[in-house]
Amino acid sequence: MERTLAIIKPDGLLGNYTDDIKKTIIEYGSSIFKEKIVQLDEATVEQFYAQHSSKSFFSRLIKYMTSGPVLVMVLEKDNAIADWRALMGPTDASKAKITHPHSIRAKCGLDIERNCVHGSDSLKSAQREIPFFFKELSSGQ
Ligand code: GDP
Ligand code: MG
Repeated sequence: MERTLAIIKPDGLLGNYTDDIKKTIIEYGSSIFKEKIVQLDEATVEQFYAQHSSKSFFSRLIKYMTSGPVLVMVLEKDNAIADWRALMGPTDASKAKITHPHSIRAKCGLDIERNCVHGSDSLKSAQREIPFFFKELSSGQ
């Protein structure tokens, strides 16, 4: 079994996509091991997305991710990391609508920024991101 960090971003919660997304997660054989709703502050988003700190969109990303509450989840299944990324679809939701019309980002997202969901992009990222939000889960557990 593998675990990954999934986030339903502010546009996802606001757009009432949570139930549909959770249904998709369960249908694809994942369990939701942990979940909580949090209102992120700027410092937390800066830290979480530190890898993007030099990007031109960083300040927009912080504004977006603090614009409302998010639902943070730990998903568990075999191959959870890659499978959740595949379910989410590509980063740019406007392109996903054409190339991956059944993906979550195609259905719930809007553009390259407001793309509704997050997923860890590697085992290393998952091992950082899971305890970032769930301190009771040590790395890789
Ligand atoms: P992800 O792993 O597919 O979420 O994509 P990245 O790690 O590359 O980017 C993190 C998040 O930053 C994305 O999910 C978007 O919300 C946002 N983002 C990425 N690229 C851009 C961009 O070019 N412009 C803007 N405004 N936001 C972006
Ligand atoms: Mg990423």
